[in-house]
Amino acid sequence: MPETRLDDVLVSPSLPDAVRAALLAPMVDHHCHGVRRDDLSRSEFEMLITEAGTPAPPGTTHFDTPVGVAIRRWCAPVLDLEPHVPPAVYLSRRAELGAAEVNRRLLRAAGIAAFLVDTGLESPELLSAAEMGRLGGAAADEIVRLEQVEQEVAEAGMPAVDYAGTLREELAARAARAAGLKSIAAYRCGLGFDPSRPSRGAVIAAAGRRLAEPKERLTDPVLVRHLLWTAIDVARERSLPLQFHCGYGDTDLDLHRSDPALLTGFIRAVAPSGVPVILLHCYPYHRQAAYLANVFPHVYVDVGLALTYTAAGSVSVLRELLELVPFHKQMFSSDCYGVGELCLLGAVYHRRGLARVLADRLGEGEWSPADAARIAHMIGSGNARRVYRL
Ligand SMILES: [Zn+2]
Repeated sequence: MPETRLDDVLVSPSLPDAVRAALLAPMVDHHCHGVRRDDLSRSEFEMLITEAGTPAPPGTTHFDTPVGVAIRRWCAPVLDLEPHVPPAVYLSRRAELGAAEVNRRLLRAAGIAAFLVDTGLESPELLSAAEMGRLGGAAADEIVRLEQVEQEVAEAGMPAVDYAGTLREELAARAARAAGLKSIAAYRCGLGFDPSRPSRGAVIAAAGRRLAEPKERLTDPVLVRHLLWTAIDVARERSLPLQFHCGYGDTDLDLHRSDPALLTGFIRAVAPSGVPVILLHCYPYHRQAAYLANVFPHVYVDVGLALTYTAAGSVSVLRELLELVPFHKQMFSSDCYGVGELCLLGAVYHRRGLARVLADRLGEGEWSPADAARIAHMIGSGNARRVYRL
């Protein structure tokens, strides 16, 4: 696909040159996962373009969703097809090119300068952080998922009194090679946990129960809190940020327990540590997240995944976020997982949505072109480079 054509569709040629350039500049994708290295059947592909975790009901398809239509619109041309081709045509071209070539094209078309890859969902079929970087022509770093490290520690087995020390050592070792840490507490006990650091006695008692059932997922709020406070200690030592999954996710999640406003007590409690707290996804609580970023100096916001899955409707999400979020607090991510299509779409809808919001601000005389360009750069890459020290 001729690149100028893609640029013109993504970002209107009528925007000032500096603003266009800022919107089209390579971005830091500060939260994503590996994509699959193997060729996918139609049913496998469909399962990777939804958070549903189940096939579409008989006689229907996950292509009949905002993201499904968006794949046919924006990814088809990257595979040399006309926009809007039927799913079967798209998938047969995908199979013809093969996974490696499809991933290479889609990741490169996204225009990413650096991938920060959450490696918490390890599987041999998923590209590693380094492979994502190589294929996408970008730098790559790892984000360590706290609950995965804890799972490994629990499964290794030890006396309950040694649990806290071992966890701390393991987390510190993993953090030494990472750009940041991430928690999925929203999936485990929800974000409304008691924000205080649990006592040593409470941790040892809970560790005893935990180590008796080490294969279970960690859900005990005492140990989740302990894990988070240990992460804050490690993050402070290494000047790393801590990401939290908030809002939109898969069917394991109780959505109402993932509202970032539930984290307010914890955010307040960790403020003296100076550790940046980054709220991921946030939809449909992105307004709450914008508020938190506005009032707490160490809170940052991202609506990755939400833009991909709301697709043609995503400009409203960005508009609502930008009502209040400080511009030095917002970051871009694709949150792609499994298929390169989700990386490209995350980047497409970020650029398209922001272009439309900026065009409004410019048209209304609210912002100067220089401000619009500066803010697009900050959100696309500058804020992430500063906070992750890239
Ligand atoms: Zn994710």
